[in-house]
Amino acid sequence: MDLKRIEKSFFEILNAMGEDVKREGLLDTPKRVARMYEELFWGLNVDPKSVLSAIFNENHDEIVIVKDIPLYSMCEHHFLPFHGAAHIAYIPKNGRITGISKLARVVDVLSHRPQLQERLTSQTADTIFEVLDPMGVIVIIEAEHMCMTMRGINKPGSITVTSAIRGIFEEDAPARAEVLNLLRR
Ligand SMILES: [Zn+2]
Repeated sequence: MDLKRIEKSFFEILNAMGEDVKREGLLDTPKRVARMYEELFWGLNVDPKSVLSAIFNENHDEIVIVKDIPLYSMCEHHFLPFHGAAHIAYIPKNGRITGISKLARVVDVLSHRPQLQERLTSQTADTIFEVLDPMGVIVIIEAEHMCMTMRGINKPGSITVTSAIRGIFEEDAPARAEVLNLLRR
């Protein structure tokens, strides 16, 4: 990431807004914003598949659910945050499981990019489905978008829910219902 260039560009944005870029509070702001972008968007340089590499063999072919994985991301349309939680469920195939923290790590990598909630949801599901090759996977994300809260239609508290369903859950309605029921608790 070219921090110097981000710094220069943000300095220009402040100027274009008619701000006094020389006042004390703003002097180091372009530098701070550049470093913050590096922190917020580190996921751009990480392959989410690489964080799922640790795969164990365990005699468990039942549903695994990880609920309430906190997530913070940036809406690529407005460059404002959206935040909420991700829920992941999968059924291992031939006992292939991964560390539970690795699932959260996939969400971490993908959310630290300019994102859309819909894409974050499907990319998370696709990454798990490809690398772990499970029977099926469901990813649900619930999030509040600052671009809907602070501006635009100004609807604080409205939650956007997205889901991505892969594999056996696509056809198997009872299995899908079981997961959704477990997630509701
Ligand atoms: Zn937005």
